[in-house]
Amino acid sequence: MTLDRDAILSLLKGDNDTWLFETARKTTREIFGDEIYLRGIVEFSSFCRCHCNYCGLRAPNKEIRRYRLCRHEIMEAVDELAELNLATVVLQSGEDPHFDVATVGKIITEIKARHQVAITLSLGERGREAFSHWRDCGADRYLLKMETLDASLYESYRPGSGFAARLKGVEHLKRLGYEAGSGIITGLPGMTIETLADDILALTEMTLHMISAGPFVPHPQTPFGENEPADVMVALRTMAILRILNPKANIPSTSALETVQKEGRKMGIESGANVLMFSVTPASVRKSYSIYPGKNQEEKSAADTVAGAHELIRSMGLIPSKKVGGSKVQ
Ligand code: SF4
Repeated sequence: MTLDRDAILSLLKGDNDTWLFETARKTTREIFGDEIYLRGIVEFSSFCRCHCNYCGLRAPNKEIRRYRLCRHEIMEAVDELAELNLATVVLQSGEDPHFDVATVGKIITEIKARHQVAITLSLGERGREAFSHWRDCGADRYLLKMETLDASLYESYRPGSGFAARLKGVEHLKRLGYEAGSGIITGLPGMTIETLADDILALTEMTLHMISAGPFVPHPQTPFGENEPADVMVALRTMAILRILNPKANIPSTSALETVQKEGRKMGIESGANVLMFSVTPASVRKSYSIYPGKNQEEKSAADTVAGAHELIRSMGLIPSKKVGGSKVQ
């Protein structure tokens, strides 16, 4: 089947779920075998200067507890992750200039000196100089999500952030030699099934190393707090279509799926995901990284979280990989 726009629209509506999910799983196995890559996320600052209308960390939200980890705390979390044989650390934060370019660079350099892990950054739009310096320090990957590829919707979701500049940011990351990732949120207010089809095609044209698609979960302390959450099946179909169109990209089963649907992460893997990401942020602050309600609510230790991920993967007849799990996209 050729997946043109009409075929994508039909699949998003659920016209051929059996074919869609079977084909997505088969495509994933052909490229990645039975392995699922694991990533540990250290969310080191919940401060953010941005005003994204869907996100609990937005600057105007005065009701959440903000925190910053010090360098020592970040290193402790990374050391633990390495001891648990996780080969990728994801350093994530709101857009927090308190962690300036040099400070983040030193953290990257120190991690690379201590451990043989890949480093993924998810720190927002910090500018070309920052992207370039952090790459020189050894960062391997960068996630800069678009949330939608519709320019006017984008600018209504993310006041103060320009669509064209963000898109150029993703291209710049690729030119710097990062494995570049982007993604969308399905079911945001104002999105239609047509928006989603166009987003899928636009993401595919970008030839990304990593692609994520997670469902919208309304956060009560945001302008979108009263909106309906996304339809989980549409989110899963979006992932499956993205997998078929981007066979070599790393695609995570998002934590937002688990929040809106019991066993959502498992369903994500069944829809073509080949990556599991989970928070290894210190338990004392983990719940405060509240992008959406229900995120990071588990009080498990990092060791128990990893053991749980292994158990889930094995229960599906798959293998928890100890590899760095780089992209297969050239
Ligand atoms: S989505 Fe990211 S940039 Fe926007 S408010 Fe939330 S943490 Fe900040």
